[in-house]
Amino acid sequence: MLKDQDRIFTNLYGMHDRSLAGARKRGHWDGTAGILAQGRDWIVDQIKASGLRGRGGAGFPTGLKWSFMPKQSDGRPSYLIVNADESEPGTCKDREIMRHDPHTLIEGALIAGFAMGADAGYIYIRGEYIREREVLQAAIDECYDAGLIGKNACGSGYDYQLYLHHGAGAYICGEETAMLESLEGKKGMPRMKPPFPAASGLYGCPSTVNNVESIAVVPTILRRGATWFSGFGRPNNTGTKLFAISGHVNNPCVVEDAMSTPLKEILERHAGGVRGGWNNLKAVIPGGSSVPMLNAAQSDEALMDFDWLRDAKSGLGTAAIIVMDQSTDIIKAIWRLSKFYKHESCGQCTPCREGTGWMMRVMDRLVRGEAELEEIDMLLSVTKQVEGHTICALGDAAAWPIQGLVRQFRGEIEDRIKARKTGRLSAMAAE
Ligand code: SF4
Repeated sequence: MLKDQDRIFTNLYGMHDRSLAGARKRGHWDGTAGILAQGRDWIVDQIKASGLRGRGGAGFPTGLKWSFMPKQSDGRPSYLIVNADESEPGTCKDREIMRHDPHTLIEGALIAGFAMGADAGYIYIRGEYIREREVLQAAIDECYDAGLIGKNACGSGYDYQLYLHHGAGAYICGEETAMLESLEGKKGMPRMKPPFPAASGLYGCPSTVNNVESIAVVPTILRRGATWFSGFGRPNNTGTKLFAISGHVNNPCVVEDAMSTPLKEILERHAGGVRGGWNNLKAVIPGGSSVPMLNAAQSDEALMDFDWLRDAKSGLGTAAIIVMDQSTDIIKAIWRLSKFYKHESCGQCTPCREGTGWMMRVMDRLVRGEAELEEIDMLLSVTKQVEGHTICALGDAAAWPIQGLVRQFRGEIEDRIKARKTGRLSAMAAE
């Protein structure tokens, strides 16, 4: 279990002063100029050594991503973009950072911007996060006034502007290239890659997009050392991590714990356990709505990290743990996600535009049992045709929950179809 002194986010629950003065008392903005004085390469090397992997879902090594940025400018400016769109259903961890511990993010954005040679940083926050935006902007203003960012940031000689930009509520703007389009004032539609943002990103300039949590943990890693951070979790899955627990638990919450902590331990220690007891568990979606679910037996053994969950054909994603107990109509739960992804598809590639609608309509009938048994395999084959055949990962995100459902609860889908045919369908399923 993570000790209190090892927590990076010391005001996650908003119990303390979130202003600059309060943040400084808790150790933030301590020796930032000294960190910058160590130079770009040292910072990037430290972050690589810490093993930090992106906290937004993909888990790409953060230090390596920064190293893709040009060492010498060819005349174009460079940008850091902080992805604060946080629209994945079930995910609400970055929100707690922004509204209660905003200085972790701003200090991180300065150091990360410096490490990648950025001229400016943009924090792209989801439109619905209105109070979070107000808090973050107030914190940014405090930092400008204190000379921590802006011209000669922290007295380091480095000039760094930081802008807060708010979106308008489209899930797809959380995809990094769609975010760049949106920042440029265009419709949020993902771009083809390559070119990757480090070569041609915002306004055609070298850019790196990082998740809020990935950036906010950077200052503490550099202060306490890469070895301290890499001491948590298993190799290749290091550090502390925010977990957002929702659904059928007694105490839904966001909590920081060590990576690779068993799922059962996280649920029992922090969330008061599954409603009705552990044996009442039906399934868990461990990483935000786009990853395939785990059944109860898998949940019993699951370690919350990138590699364990990938090997179990699921994923850590955003580490948003959605718990479903035995009362859940699991087919209907996944249908709801299908409906969401259909609604959020930007429509520019055919497998996603047509496939998400097709999958949702079949799911719609499966909820009511109004289908033939062969349609289950047909649905599975459509998910395979969408997965990996689209410009961005939304296609995969729409396909994977259905694949997880069929893998884990095929029997339940078949029973419902058979029950409909014999007139034995329960009132709940028929709704
Ligand atoms: Fe748009 Fe879907 Fe294609 Fe992504 S996969 S670019 S959301 S149509």
